[in-house]
Amino acid sequence: MSNTEMVEEKPAKVLLGEIVAKHYQEAWDAKNRGEKVGWCASNFPQEILETMDIKVVYPENQAAAISAKGGGQRMCETAENAGYSNDICAYARISLAYMDVKDAPELNMPQPDFVACCNNICNCMIKWYENIAKELDIPLILIDVPYNDEYEAGDDRVEYLKGQFDHAIKQLEDITGKKWDDKRFEKVMEISQRTGKAWLEATGYAKYTPSPFSGFDVFNHMAVAVCARGKEESAIAFEKLTKEFEENVKTGKSTFKGEEKYRIIFEGIACWPHLRHTFKQLKDGGVNVCGTVYADAFGYIYNNTYELMQAYCGTPNAISYERSLDMRLKLVEENNIDGMLVHINRSCKQWSGIMYEMEREFRERTGLPTATFDGDQADPRNFSDAQYDTRVQGLIEVMEANKAAKMKGEH
Ligand code: SF4
Repeated sequence: MSNTEMVEEKPAKVLLGEIVAKHYQEAWDAKNRGEKVGWCASNFPQEILETMDIKVVYPENQAAAISAKGGGQRMCETAENAGYSNDICAYARISLAYMDVKDAPELNMPQPDFVACCNNICNCMIKWYENIAKELDIPLILIDVPYNDEYEAGDDRVEYLKGQFDHAIKQLEDITGKKWDDKRFEKVMEISQRTGKAWLEATGYAKYTPSPFSGFDVFNHMAVAVCARGKEESAIAFEKLTKEFEENVKTGKSTFKGEEKYRIIFEGIACWPHLRHTFKQLKDGGVNVCGTVYADAFGYIYNNTYELMQAYCGTPNAISYERSLDMRLKLVEENNIDGMLVHINRSCKQWSGIMYEMEREFRERTGLPTATFDGDQADPRNFSDAQYDTRVQGLIEVMEANKAAKMKGEH
């Protein structure tokens, strides 16, 4: 049996899990061989690192895994005891704690020889990475993507990025001794495109009613979209996922195990420490997540280097309020949405700060009900079961009333 056939036989979920495991193993192997290994921000242009075959690991992925496995509070408190404010993003606190204690039973990863930062998701990133660089006395590579108050990134922004891409490549060559290769870069862009398109196609299946998958799957599969976009096996795994969803649509199956009565947008990052509870409450109420901006966030689509740089200016937290709102309205239009549940995430000020106005305007423009709950993507102390349950219940009641009124109107 050929390798391709073996890959074909495995469910996409297994393939995606294997990619993540291999990603960490390769970083450990590189470290053990004496190669330079970095810590990297989730939306740093991975095409650069993949082209140069430089191994990096992602503190945000690690922090999510640690908090999902119950270690978030311990790590946050470790950072706070070292003097870091409780107001700092919990991903940053967990990562700063890990830099210090160098051990987390939930998920270990190699310590960094350099850090690669890109602030297209938030500026907290800069101070977090600067701090690691200073504490560990290692180089910081920074690609600065300013908040874009226009709709699309224009020539001036791309030009500003181009100079920084060139500088980052030079820095990486100096640090690692590895060389840039234009031909390899073209290939990596091609694979990343294939992955991005497959990811968008798979998550796009949420347009079907009922959806062939549970929206919480997107949170779980995201790790590969973050850490391995430029790898062929990721493209294959997401293409496999697309086929599975297609098959589910044909056979009426879904990975959502409840009865899909209501379809909502889940706004914001998952509450990793309370993932089970947040999911179960929705599932028990017949609510499936059929829209998150994460689908678009990691589906980078471009045809050339110019568009690649433009795409990195288009991450959810880097774009204007108007464009952000349009992303949510597009989900309503395409995915037959009944309401929106908004996670007001204490860690992520940049994302949650605009949510009060976004929620108001979303409700006004769509006529759909919304509810908010307070939480945190990694610090379990900022979430209350009772508040979440009450808010979800309230949202369900309004969606139920809306459905009943609609059915009455149709008869
Ligand atoms: S969760 Fe928000 S604040 Fe924290 S690193 Fe991500 S974008 Fe920045």
